[in-house]
Amino acid sequence: MKTFVCECGNTIFYENTRCVCCGSELGWCPSCTRMTSLRLEKDGHRRCGNSDCNVLLMKCSNYSEHHVCNHCVPVSSEAERPEGLCDYCDFNDTIPDLTVAGNREMWKRLEEAKRRLLYTLDLLRLPYGKKSDGVLPRLNFDFKADAVGKPDQWWWSLGKEERVFTGHADGKITINLREADTVEREKARVLFQEAHRTVIGHFRHEIAHYYWEMLVKGKAESEFKAVFGDHENPTYAECQSKYYKKGPVANWQSSFVSGYAAMHPWEDFAETFATYLDMVSVLDTAMNMNISPSCNPVQTELAEMVSHYIKLGVLLNEMNRAMGLIDYVPEILVSPVVVKMQYIHDLLRNAAEPLPAASPPTETPT
Ligand SMILES: [Zn+2]
Ligand SMILES: [Zn+2]
Ligand SMILES: [Zn+2]
Ligand SMILES: [Zn+2]
Repeated sequence: MKTFVCECGNTIFYENTRCVCCGSELGWCPSCTRMTSLRLEKDGHRRCGNSDCNVLLMKCSNYSEHHVCNHCVPVSSEAERPEGLCDYCDFNDTIPDLTVAGNREMWKRLEEAKRRLLYTLDLLRLPYGKKSDGVLPRLNFDFKADAVGKPDQWWWSLGKEERVFTGHADGKITINLREADTVEREKARVLFQEAHRTVIGHFRHEIAHYYWEMLVKGKAESEFKAVFGDHENPTYAECQSKYYKKGPVANWQSSFVSGYAAMHPWEDFAETFATYLDMVSVLDTAMNMNISPSCNPVQTELAEMVSHYIKLGVLLNEMNRAMGLIDYVPEILVSPVVVKMQYIHDLLRNAAEPLPAASPPTETPT
């Protein structure tokens, strides 16, 4: 992720909605693809504060009505967007019940993570089933809370019919709203012995299942089996029941990024894919902060990315330990894991929209 600059010269960040220095309202401009100050016009519209862009904007309705988004929509697209939602909010099929106290704040955290996920997919130039572009399956999100009358009951002890399961099916990513509750999420992390449990991590894991369905299912399953193992035998249900009875296989660290990855090839793919997206996002941020060399994920070889990420991981882990925090990069990228990351890297690169052709070099008079 990049940082941006307000008209007043102050540094602004991707999640901001107001400049702490000059008080300007801020938002994401889809025309110049950056965070910018928003100049209020007489008719209530906004104008992009980037003088090279200056486009007329309106705030996404999830920004103006609910303050869970900070993206804008060009006024010129008003007719095609009767609901006034931005590109990213347009993927929501179900939003939480906003009459329940606390739900809006948790929804906001889910939206922040979702925007970062989609930003990374755009960075990788990946297709993801927008309503208009005909890519299947169409991506959509359900953000829902458990149907419970006893809020003190822990989510993992609820009956099946009362629970919302975080997961993916046919393009729909469902996230249980409780994943945005920091205390509950940390309790679940400790219970399931996970190195990390984050909202963005859930999105990165579930989008992997979405891409498996889009890019592998019925198209390249034998190549997938050669790298991740047979996903049909034993079945997913058999593996899942074994995992929940006995826990992860011993010594999973020698071939997998997590104990859960060792459960079934689909989960191995999703966990490794999430690690790959972590790496892309961290390297992009490090590059934009000038602490790592240029590492464009659509042009750099995987070995180089992994090498930079390992170096950064050592640095960031030590920084976190100095502050008494858990490890920043807990995964150990052993060679069987790198082989799987290479498969994912190649799969995504083949699916990516090609980079625009470079303009021919201008001739310099001699
Ligand atoms: Zn400012
Ligand atoms: Zn702009
Ligand atoms: Zn929005
Ligand atoms: Zn999964």
